[in-house]
Amino acid sequence: MAAPSRKPIVAGNWKMNLDGAKARALTAAVAGRQAEAAGVELVLCPPALYASAVADALGLKGGVGPSGVALGGQNMHDKQSGAYTGEVAAGMLRDVGCRYVILGHSERRSLFGETDGQVNAKVKAALAAGLVPIVCVGESLQERESGRTESVVSEQVLASLAGIPAVELGRIVVAYEPVWAIGTGKVATPQQAQDVHALIRALLSRLSSPEVAATIRLQYGGSVKPDNAADLAACTDIDGALVGGASLQADDFLAIARAFG
Ligand code: PEP
Repeated sequence: MAAPSRKPIVAGNWKMNLDGAKARALTAAVAGRQAEAAGVELVLCPPALYASAVADALGLKGGVGPSGVALGGQNMHDKQSGAYTGEVAAGMLRDVGCRYVILGHSERRSLFGETDGQVNAKVKAALAAGLVPIVCVGESLQERESGRTESVVSEQVLASLAGIPAVELGRIVVAYEPVWAIGTGKVATPQQAQDVHALIRALLSRLSSPEVAATIRLQYGGSVKPDNAADLAACTDIDGALVGGASLQADDFLAIARAFG
């Protein structure tokens, strides 16, 4: 269970799913039932093209709407503007009402070749634009089976967050998403997840201070479903979830959020 200083945060990563009508309907369903997950911050991360429609459905003004449900991007470029065809900038995400942005998702890393260095540049650009980065890290199955989970995750955390002042680090969210658990139905055991979350918090403590690290929210992601969320939520260092597939159904997404409340 998250420490009282850390408000649980459950974010839905819709990936490249839904259309405009379905995005608006899902948003309305989640926002209309937000009270079911009182005390939990909910974030919806639609495809960038539908961010404005979701912002409208949430009634967002300056990133805040009546339901309290926040909007997030799934990715962004690290430059503010320029000749980067097909990309979106942090300022654009802010402009349409985003408060959060997912960075370094394993699909960005594996399918689009994103490196820790690029993630680091994006984290800095997001913070400079006033966005809260949700920084994703996690090992592959091969890395876990060869006993390299700790070293891989440590390297990702230290490199993705290099050079960020402690006060700024205090604003970020880190999502531990073992690659072998994403979209596979194979969830990490609560103990496996808690062990890596404790490691991440120790690394954040080294990068900032124990006081700052104690306030940083750590999400688990990878096949989180209504039937496994409560066991994950019971872990000391798991402060929420980054949810893919199950975030596409309001019932499932809210059931997961309730587990963290
Ligand atoms: C994700 O893509 O961030 C994710 C956790 O997906 P799923 O919940 O579908 O495993």
